[in-house]
Amino acid sequence: MFFRFCLTAVVCLIALECRADEATPRFAIVIHGGAGRISSDPAHRKARGEVLDRVLHDAKQRLADGAAALDVVERVINTLEDAPQFNAGRGAVFNAAGAHELDASIMDGRDRSCGAVAGVRTVRHPITLARRVMTDTRHVLLSSDGAEKFADEVGADIERVNNDWFSTKPQKARLKQIQAMKRPAAEHLMGTVGCVVLDTHGDIAAGTSTGGMTNKKFGRVGDSPIVGAGTFADNATCGVSCTGVGEDFIRNAIAYQISAQMEYAAKSLEDSVHHMLHHPRHQISGGIIAISAAGDITMQFNTDGMSRAAADSSGRHEVHVAE
Ligand code: ASP
Repeated sequence: MFFRFCLTAVVCLIALECRADEATPRFAIVIHGGAGRISSDPAHRKARGEVLDRVLHDAKQRLADGAAALDVVERVINTLEDAPQFNAGRGAVFNAAGAHELDASIMDGRDRSCGAVAGVRTVRHPITLARRVMTDTRHVLLSSDGAEKFADEVGADIERVNNDWFSTKPQKARLKQIQAMKRPAAEHLMGTVGCVVLDTHGDIAAGTSTGGMTNKKFGRVGDSPIVGAGTFADNATCGVSCTGVGEDFIRNAIAYQISAQMEYAAKSLEDSVHHMLHHPRHQISGGIIAISAAGDITMQFNTDGMSRAAADSSGRHEVHVAE
């Protein structure tokens, strides 16, 4: 009798384990390509969708093979930084002076280590330089001339380009269009890139890279390189990457607050992100992607659209270019 009881208990436990395994994704990834009113040009939309789909397939394969979250975040963002359809790296927006100043940050959820760069002008992949700030210095954020000097010190691992390498025709047209407006609407934001990953080791990483906002004033720094505003990651709670009017995300410490709500108020990931995005006091315009420690994915925005993609080990694979 006792033996039968033990046997039944063991079988039940194994069954429960299997159910938990099925329910909990072994890995999860979410990507954004900026929030706002996405261009209705079919060729632009198609190109964006194809890039997102390609990076998602590549990342999924790597994660299934055991790649680390940080490596996948950096690789995804590197690819998007090279795609002119996004406002990061190659396709960075113009500032008011007709030049490009790029920002990026990356965070490791294992120990909250992080690195960021702001206002870089000659770095092809700002996210890679941000990662080197994290690993090679005792600092979190290096800006403009200092960040450029640090890139010189790192040497060949950091690819350099002339500032006009970032100049593309569509962004030039956008600058002219926005300079002609009396009060540019937030709807015109679009194209910042971000990625959050939960890997098969249970580690979370997040990163964000951007050219900032079109027509921004010299030296302006948005939320993307500000840890706790545009990017956050903690294995205990979640990873977050934001996009939208950076000043609002900084004012409200949006990315950190999502983690804090989960940690201190036991809120779900979905509710925490919804709260931050829609609370009237926050007055934010943009989008947020995040993954919880349990592998839940959320992609929310309060603008017309947000380019985004998500996948996990249960077979989920989705790409949305706009709405
Ligand atoms: N958050 C970025 C910034 O303010 C812009 C964006 O996400 O589109 O620089």
